[in-house]
Amino acid sequence: MARLLDLRHVISPAVRDLVELANLTDFDRVTEQVRNLRGCTRPVNLTGWTTTTDQTTSTVVRSYSTADEPTGRLLTACGNRRSSRCPACSRLYAADTYHLIKAGLSGGKTVPETVRTHPRVFATLTAPSFGPVHNRPSGNRRCRCGAHHQEDAPALGTPLYPATYDYAGAVLWNAHAGALWARYAIYLRRHLAAHLGMTQKALNAAVRISFAKVAEYQKRGLVHFHAVIRFDGPAGSNESPPSWATVAALTHAIKQAAQNAVLAVPSKAVGERKIRWGKQIDVREITALGDGELTDQKVAAYVAKYATKSAEGSGTVDRSLVCHPCAGRGYLRGPDGFRDLCDDCGGTGQAEPLKDLRVQRHVRQMIRTAWNLGHLPEFADLKLWKWAHMLGFRGHFSTKSRAYSTTLGALRDVRRTWRTAQADRAHARAGHPAPDENTTLVTESSWQYLTSGYRPGEELLAAQTRHDITQARDQTARAKTEGEIWQ
Ligand SMILES: [Zn+2]
Ligand SMILES: [Zn+2]
Ligand SMILES: [Zn+2]
Repeated sequence: MARLLDLRHVISPAVRDLVELANLTDFDRVTEQVRNLRGCTRPVNLTGWTTTTDQTTSTVVRSYSTADEPTGRLLTACGNRRSSRCPACSRLYAADTYHLIKAGLSGGKTVPETVRTHPRVFATLTAPSFGPVHNRPSGNRRCRCGAHHQEDAPALGTPLYPATYDYAGAVLWNAHAGALWARYAIYLRRHLAAHLGMTQKALNAAVRISFAKVAEYQKRGLVHFHAVIRFDGPAGSNESPPSWATVAALTHAIKQAAQNAVLAVPSKAVGERKIRWGKQIDVREITALGDGELTDQKVAAYVAKYATKSAEGSGTVDRSLVCHPCAGRGYLRGPDGFRDLCDDCGGTGQAEPLKDLRVQRHVRQMIRTAWNLGHLPEFADLKLWKWAHMLGFRGHFSTKSRAYSTTLGALRDVRRTWRTAQADRAHARAGHPAPDENTTLVTESSWQYLTSGYRPGEELLAAQTRHDITQARDQTARAKTEGEIWQ
């Protein structure tokens, strides 16, 4: 006699949910939605609608409503830049950044190829010292503590004398790094004009300095910047700079400006600080071709890699530490106007007690210093509580001047247009007329955030998508290696 198997007791909730999804009328659409997210870890769930109407004929040319979706909602990729949060979306971000930097170096997208002939360098600007740290000196020399540290030794970058290390200086440096860069860009033009013996006005009329930069954390918890700096003609990337704007002049000005750029930060509590660059400045010419040298591809790949790393390299946490209900203040105003201690944080203002964070002592001290400085009114603008987990740095991880290359927004537009085109095709199939190119189209829409994440069954589909993507990538890599062997 055949025994009946009761699936409810055997299969996991995820599989059960998947069976439920498979029984919906349009399971293909369910899988398509998940596939479109390309493995995103925590997609955003939306409900809403959008309608595009032709103004002249008042006919609807395009409409979409999540009510028509099999699960009644639309999943969109989280778009997070950090690889610790969403590997899939951060990979896309890295790819976009790569194309952005690459276009600025060798042309492509909206940038002409002649940009390759413009003088350009790859510069690294670091923070100064705030006290001696454990390191690996070149040659066979030992660290000042007497040890030979391994490459991945946790002690590297941490202070030799924590009690006298200038933590306030280090945190304030991070907090002003973005402003120092802005100041530096002004100094760069000034030094270049002086070096070439011309006025700044004349220089600006003849040459444009375009750049793209990324921030990276060093082991010691201080940010430093890598930047592609390029000469253009006054109109930008599509115009050659004058012949006297050479790599040598650019290199000279970069070094001079780095020595002299300074930002004064006054404070009664910790004294005035001069924010400036450290002595280690590296400037290298980028060549269009050549082997073993710094080429377009190498620079673009390097910059893209750092764009997704965030502060992880410093060993800090990837989330804000501010207590939400009291916004870090530690108290709430009661109905009588008096301060009530915040129940959520017990008055600390911290979402997680700093002493419980699973980080190195040095990192904890950076975070604690940022928190303490955040109480000072003169540093209110720095929002040090909000950025304590970033060790004070609140700048953007990758920025570029307007003329450098295409924008991330433009790259996303290309993708969006492509997606809309796909939706249009699907729509035309459904029997709507294709929109006439000359009409005025008006789009109205309304969206609400529902939640984040997948249904358990969709999570299985997402896992399959990730598996497929990894396999496809491995295959491409293998094919490439084989191709190189036979070249
Ligand atoms: Zn994502
Ligand atoms: Zn040491
Ligand atoms: Zn609180």
